[in-house]
Amino acid sequence: MSGQGSTEGIVIAIDGPSGSGKSSTSKGVAKARGLRYLDTGAMYRALTWWMLDNGVDVEDPAAVAAAVDRPVITMGTDPAAPTVSVDGRDVAAEIRGREVTASVSAVSAVPRARELLVAAQREAIDAARREGPGIVVEGRDITTVVAPDAPVKLFVTASAEARAQRRSKEIRTGDVAATRADLERRDRLDSSRAHSPLTLTSGTAELDTTGLDLDEVVALVVDLVDEAARAAATARA
Ligand code: C5P
Repeated sequence: MSGQGSTEGIVIAIDGPSGSGKSSTSKGVAKARGLRYLDTGAMYRALTWWMLDNGVDVEDPAAVAAAVDRPVITMGTDPAAPTVSVDGRDVAAEIRGREVTASVSAVSAVPRARELLVAAQREAIDAARREGPGIVVEGRDITTVVAPDAPVKLFVTASAEARAQRRSKEIRTGDVAATRADLERRDRLDSSRAHSPLTLTSGTAELDTTGLDLDEVVALVVDLVDEAARAAATARA
């Protein structure tokens, strides 16, 4: 066994609010240990993009529920170049737009939408486990619903101001106050919905990234992953 332990087949579940740094952290950890990477937020965004593109009223849960199984959402899980497509069309840019961001919490609160996407997420996890490399999965309900048995479970946070600053940089807007208001609105919706709300539960480690840079956060998480891999190897021996 190498010093880092074998991460083969490992599942790393990462939840947290927008702008907490969980996407960059997840990709960085996956790259560092040769794992796959699944951005489940991109799946909810892709579904929302399709609803908007097809004139479905996203504020009507019954209309959303009736349409959820029509689009085919495909995710590429290479952390160096993750992809997302709907019915064969690359929608990576479209799903980051203002309209999708404003509507995604409504769509993701629809139980039928969650059922479908959670099943697809579990399939991707099972494939990564079976085929070898293991996977880092990030979202809002990965530690609680999608992969509650993952050996590494993290809840990544940061102060609202730090998150707004980061997200503003990402989407290239100087209006940090508006970005912060939008983040807080989505946090509220995502944390208070009836189905699979964003929540920190026991067995999940909280990691506050305020004041830390990405390399520091990735190094911390890689240490946790290696520790879990060593523990698993010891348990098997
Ligand atoms: O992570 P990101 O900000 O791209 O997620 C977009 C939205 O998708 C979240 O605000 C949330 O409403 C939803 N989501 C979810 N469950 C997940 C991942 C994302 O409900 N596992």
